Amino acid sequence: MTARCCLACGGRLTVVREDGHTRRRCRRCGWIFYGNPVPAAVGVILRRGRVLLTRRARPPYAGTWDLPGGFLEAGELPEACLVRELREELGLRVRRARLLGFATDRYGPRGFAVLTTVYRVEPHPGPLRPADDVSEARWFPRRGVPFGAIAFPSMRTLLRRYLSGR
Ligand SMILES: [Zn+2]
Repeated sequence: MTARCCLACGGRLTVVREDGHTRRRCRRCGWIFYGNPVPAAVGVILRRGRVLLTRRARPPYAGTWDLPGGFLEAGELPEACLVRELREELGLRVRRARLLGFATDRYGPRGFAVLTTVYRVEPHPGPLRPADDVSEARWFPRRGVPFGAIAFPSMRTLLRRYLSGR
């Protein structure tokens, strides 16, 4: 997914090379589409040695497993986004969140760039109430995580590394 028209004047964009990157520039006014990553925040949620994964109800990668979280709103910091998304998506309340690291990916095979902040989350106890962008939420034992069925390659790598203690 990429911009086809200029957001400033509606003109056609043309592919140009700049500083070793491929950009799209407006032929009419010179506006450039940089394709900067969209920030997201997700949680590795562990309880009694099990990790919580959610099954994606919508594209991209509908039907695959994912770490719960979502995209930042304008003006929002990553941790606030994480807390909000986990409440909206799962009815889960965050007790403690610790930064694990960052991951870069695309939102689907031809999707826009995403920069994800990943947290280790300790939740408050309580039942989960999955929202409609999640078709299922399930606790997996560390050795039973379906890595091959996890939506985003960067999440697969990060989770595999984290759960094996590397
Ligand atoms: Zn333009």
